[in-house]
Order: sequence, then structure tokens, then C-alpha cells
Amino acid sequence: MTVIRVGVVGLGKIARDQHLPAIQSDPVFELAATVSPDDHGVTGITHHQTLSALLASGPEVDAIALCTPPQVRFDLAVAALERGLHVFLEKPPGATLTEVALLEQAAAENGATLFAGWHSRFAAGVAPAKVWLADKRIERVSIVWREDVRVWHPGQAWIWEPGGLGVFDPGINALSIATEILPNAFFLSAATLWTPANRKAPIAAELSFRDTTGAPITMDLDWRQTGPQSWDIAIETTAGTLSLSKGGAVLTLPTGELYAEDREYSGLYARFAALIDGRVSEVDVRPLQLVADAYLRGRRQTVEAFED
Ligand code: NAP
Repeated sequence: MTVIRVGVVGLGKIARDQHLPAIQSDPVFELAATVSPDDHGVTGITHHQTLSALLASGPEVDAIALCTPPQVRFDLAVAALERGLHVFLEKPPGATLTEVALLEQAAAENGATLFAGWHSRFAAGVAPAKVWLADKRIERVSIVWREDVRVWHPGQAWIWEPGGLGVFDPGINALSIATEILPNAFFLSAATLWTPANRKAPIAAELSFRDTTGAPITMDLDWRQTGPQSWDIAIETTAGTLSLSKGGAVLTLPTGELYAEDREYSGLYARFAALIDGRVSEVDVRPLQLVADAYLRGRRQTVEAFED
């Protein structure tokens, strides 16, 4: 087994909460270096303030995990891919769809693996939900993704800026699950996006989609939810209702409930290793396409200012 030496770029919440533990507990990977402009890094691991410094001074790495906000990811990914390094992109894979297409091209030209990771697809209930739905007739789908932005994104200024996606930052996780498990393609028919007067990205949105058989799919996103949080998908079929809750961790079928421990990031890194081993990339932009469609086709409304 050849160990894959990884440099983690962007030592913020998700890198520290999930990437570092996943890498350090997987014998296929070695945490070789970290990069972050305002962070001191991790004891015993070489730290640089910029990716250019890591690429210039080492240590040598085989792969880079990009955990920065999406707005700065393109240039970092290009620099790594041009060195032939494999790149794991946190979600969303870019600030625009064209960026992601260019990265895919750069990976192919340089013989590197590009992995656009969608962590929610690795939640325990998602794979069995996909299997159960494969031969079902879908009647309607309801997605409710309501969380408290003050709890989950405290002080993250980038998330409210253009390219930061606002409430679609968590909402795209629901779309990553829906595009993975629903047996038919679906597309946006209408949307309303509510943006606080003092912000540049929406705090809430309502979306209506239709699948290719005509089944309606509704999506309710809201960042102003206090108390219990909702990350729920209910799929009504002619054979009964399937529900995914807790972001995909709990699956309820007409026959019973399945719950398994969280293994989203260990699953993501196992997939990254398999892609590198197979010398292929995996870049599914459908969740980002649907968000882009909401920005293209949605009605915009301004709501009261929001302070963290
Ligand atoms: P975050 O806490 O704001 O962390 C982002 C980090 O990126 C910052 O700490 C910053 O480092 C670093 N950074 C910014 N520009 C950089 C550059 N040019 N080079 C290197 N590092 C740079 O954000 P986050 O919540 O971890 O989210 C990051 C990404 O992961 C987003 O795309 C988000 O959607 C995704 N994600 C987040 C979560 C979550 O629960 N938070 C879950 C899954 C996925 P300094 O502090 O050193 O300036």
C-alpha cells in the first residue's frame, strides 16, 4: 500500500472538525502539511501560510484537500493540479460551474484525480435509500432544511458574500442527496429567494422542482430556525413513504428504521483513495447546477437586516 501524503488547505471549521481526524485515522493517508493564512497549524505538522509556500518549500505531497471558502478555491486547485497533485474539493466544488469544468479539464490534462466531494451522500441512510427507491414510482418529495445560522456558521463572513451561497450552503447538501437517490432527473420550475437588506446572499428560499415523470419536489430552506433543527427529506412513492432525517443519517422505510454512526468523512476519504488508485476523477455538478438555476430563475425579495 502506498501512503498518500495530503496537504490540507484552509484550516477552518470543517478542516479541523472532520478532515484532520478522517486523514489521521485512515492508514492510507498521511497528514503531511497544512496551509492557512491566519492559523498556526497542528503540532508536529509543517504549516505554511500559502499553498505557493508549500509547493515551493515542501514537504512533498501527493494530494491536496481544499477546505477554503469556495470563492478562493479555483486558483488553489489549478496550482495543485498543474503539479500533478490529486485534489479533493470540499463542497460546493466552486463558485461557478465554469470554474469546475475547467478544473476537470486541468485534472485530465495533468493525469491527476479531481474529487468533488459531497459529504451528505456518505451519510448512513443515503446508499440504502437509493437502492430502495430504484424501482419505485415517485409521487412527491418534500425537502425541509432549516437550521440556525448563528449556531452553524458563526462569524463566517464569506458565506454571506457572492459565491458564498447563503442558505444554499447547507441547502446544497440536501440537493446532493436528492440528485443521488431519486431515480429520475429533476429540474427547477420556480423559486423565491429572501435576502436580508444588509447581506448579499439569501437567508431563506422556497423552491419547486418537477421530475421527468411530473412528480413535484418542494424544498424549504431557512437559516432563521431556532430550537430543533430540520434536515429532512420525505419521498412518497406508490409503495409507501421513505424518510431521511438528521441530514441523511436516519432512514425510515415502510418496513422500519435504520440508523448508523456518522462516517461521512471516512467515507469521503475512502472514495478519494479509490479514485486515485483507479486514476479517475469524480465531479458531479448537479447540486451546484440546481442552485445556479435558482439564482437564474428565482424571484428575489429583500427581508429585514440580519446580524450575527
Ligand atoms: P471556515 O471555518 O471559514 O474556514 C475556511 C478557512 O479557509 C479559514 O479558516 C481560512 O483560514 C481559510 N482560507 C481562506 N482563504 C484561504 C486561502 N487563500 N488559502 C488557504 N486558506 C484559506 O469555513 P468552513 O465552515 O470550514 O467551510 C469551508 C468549506 O467547507 C465551505 O465550502 C463549506 O461549504 C464546506 N463545509 C463546511 C461545513 C461546516 O459544517 N462548517 C461542512 C461541510 C462542508 P484562516 O482562518 O487561516 O484565514
